Amino acid sequence: MSMYDKSIGKEARASLEFAEGQREAEWKYPSFALELFHGRFDTKLIHPFPKQSPEDKQKGDAYLAKLEKFLKENLDPNQVDRDSVIPDKVLKGLADLKAFAMKIPEAYGGLGLSQVNYNRAIHLISSYCASTAVVLSAHQSIGVPEPLKQFGTDQQKKKYFPKFVDGMISAFALTESEAGSDPRNMSTTAIPSEDGKYYILNGEKLWCTNGLIADVIAVMAVTPPKIIKGKEQKQITAFIVETDSPGFEIVHRCHFMGLHGIQNGLIRFKNLKVPKENIILGEGQGLKLALMTLNTGRLTLPAASVGIGKWCLYVCREWSCERVQWGLPVGQHESIALKLADIAAYTFAMEAMTWMTSFMADDKHKDIRLEAAIAKYFCTYHSYRIANETLQIRAGSGYETSESLKKRGMKSWAVERTLRDVRINQIIEGTSEIMHLFIAREALDPHLNRTKALMTSKTSMGEKFKAVLGIIGYYVPWYISLWIPVVSAQTDMHPKLDKHMRYIKRTSKRLARLVIHKMAKHQKKMATKQSVVNRIVDIGTELFAMATACSYADHLIKNEKGKENALDLADLYCLSARKDIESFFRGSCSNHDKQSLSVSKKLMAKSYEWLENDIIKVA
Ligand SMILES: Cc1cc2nc3c(=O)[nH]c(=O)nc-3n(C[C@H](O)[C@H](O)[C@H](O)COP(=O)(O)OP(=O)(O)OC[C@H]3O[C@@H](n4cnc5c(N)ncnc54)[C@H](O)[C@@H]3O)c2cc1C
Repeated sequence: MSMYDKSIGKEARASLEFAEGQREAEWKYPSFALELFHGRFDTKLIHPFPKQSPEDKQKGDAYLAKLEKFLKENLDPNQVDRDSVIPDKVLKGLADLKAFAMKIPEAYGGLGLSQVNYNRAIHLISSYCASTAVVLSAHQSIGVPEPLKQFGTDQQKKKYFPKFVDGMISAFALTESEAGSDPRNMSTTAIPSEDGKYYILNGEKLWCTNGLIADVIAVMAVTPPKIIKGKEQKQITAFIVETDSPGFEIVHRCHFMGLHGIQNGLIRFKNLKVPKENIILGEGQGLKLALMTLNTGRLTLPAASVGIGKWCLYVCREWSCERVQWGLPVGQHESIALKLADIAAYTFAMEAMTWMTSFMADDKHKDIRLEAAIAKYFCTYHSYRIANETLQIRAGSGYETSESLKKRGMKSWAVERTLRDVRINQIIEGTSEIMHLFIAREALDPHLNRTKALMTSKTSMGEKFKAVLGIIGYYVPWYISLWIPVVSAQTDMHPKLDKHMRYIKRTSKRLARLVIHKMAKHQKKMATKQSVVNRIVDIGTELFAMATACSYADHLIKNEKGKENALDLADLYCLSARKDIESFFRGSCSNHDKQSLSVSKKLMAKSYEWLENDIIKVA
């Protein structure tokens, strides 16, 4: 049985089906975002805005104060950028602060930070030195500690957790030269030894962050196929690989546009023996493990994005007041004034979404797969946009390097480095395009489950008839409910926020209608109609951002003296989001996608090669 249309081709279908087989099928806990896509607005899942317990906050505050002091006294981010290395004494100092064991439970000697406190730490470090934040995050958001924490055996935890407390660094290796977004292309193999005690690893992994300095790496490799439902299925398994094992080789250190301090490379395994006890979660469960780890792991990127957004806000505010041109501080010229307000409103929205999703992760009784992916996509997109606008506001001084500015006695804000460093966040841990596909797949899941029996030719007529009755029984009342007007959002928020909450409730019904209309129109082809699906995802994303921004503003107004004007920021963000949402709805009915896709097809067939004339082409 396949959910996908034959017209996309055998290979594309195989990749989609493979990914489908690895997804977490069950929804054990509620998800606010999932409900939104289905026209339901469950306010209590996001309101009141969650609060850190006083003990957890105190623990986080104390650790952040230590980290900040250490970083300011010992780490020069410009030096890291210039020398392309984080000095050993900094890594050692971070290890002494147990920064490589932030998420390791206290029982093993780690700091046992909550997700909120861990993200607060990454947020702080990112606002100062992105390379350092990425080294720490590659190690414990996706590297060995997180999968072991979630799925490791007691033996694995006992063996490795104390080592992380001592400063051992780990990495995560999924990507290969031919397997970027599509893991089905993976070719690194792990073949069981004859005595069954080991797996023999062969292959290469690309762009492995920390790969050059890590003592252990979580490696995804292909183990022998299994026959499942009569069909041979590729198996991907996760292994803990110790880099001092014979057969481990660093082939090349990769250098990038930004993040100069990370030690990222092409690594090779040549007949490397991994004990079978080093499998995490089980044979064939590797990709599932990677996806489930990323549900929480991904939340570090929104936290880093907010840290960067706030730093940009600070730079823009100071500079816009002090820089005078045409007789006025530049912040008083309307073009810049509008940018400033936009930066403040979106930084606020990113902050709201980041802490909401971090709290949801700590709650453990909420399904956060959609919320985490939305937060990753939303925050990485807007933090880059904000950094870019910051450079525009700083203009020539933004383009000049920090060290050059310093040498001529100017304020040395490293805006150009920040822009270089922040760009990668839209690519790592799932590109923005893949986030759209992921969000769409998960958001449509309840519909796909209900209509599965009709989509497959293998279902008997009797089963199909039963499915149709079930579908009618569910969809008729549900569809009618989507047309019932929304009178109230039933919140106790400030009227300005309540008005936006009403809009979210109303628009979530409109979104659910759009989803069902498009599904009815495109049926099996929906999965590849990315132009259609992307607008649906973007509407859901903005609605989720609006809801978290309103809930956060309400919390600040009621609980934190001096922050009552958060109302302005939430209101401004919501007004801007509503404009975008309306444009996505309009685009869903009337657009020029057909013309764009036609031009793109011709472009790939070299029809417009003439437009590339009179340039020097080098590869
Ligand atoms: C600095 C850095 C650090 C990294 N760290 C790690 C690490 O620690 N561990 C690790 O395993 N990997 C790491 N990576 C790899 C990173 O995760 C990949 O770059 C990312 O997954 C995308 O893969 P790709 O670059 O091969 O792009 P491709 O998959 O080749 O994609 C090319 C373009 O096509 C788009 N695209 C692809 N498929 C689709 C589709 N089905 N629909 C729509 N659009 C599509 C993509 O979004 C992208 O825009 C790192 C990369 C960098 C640059």
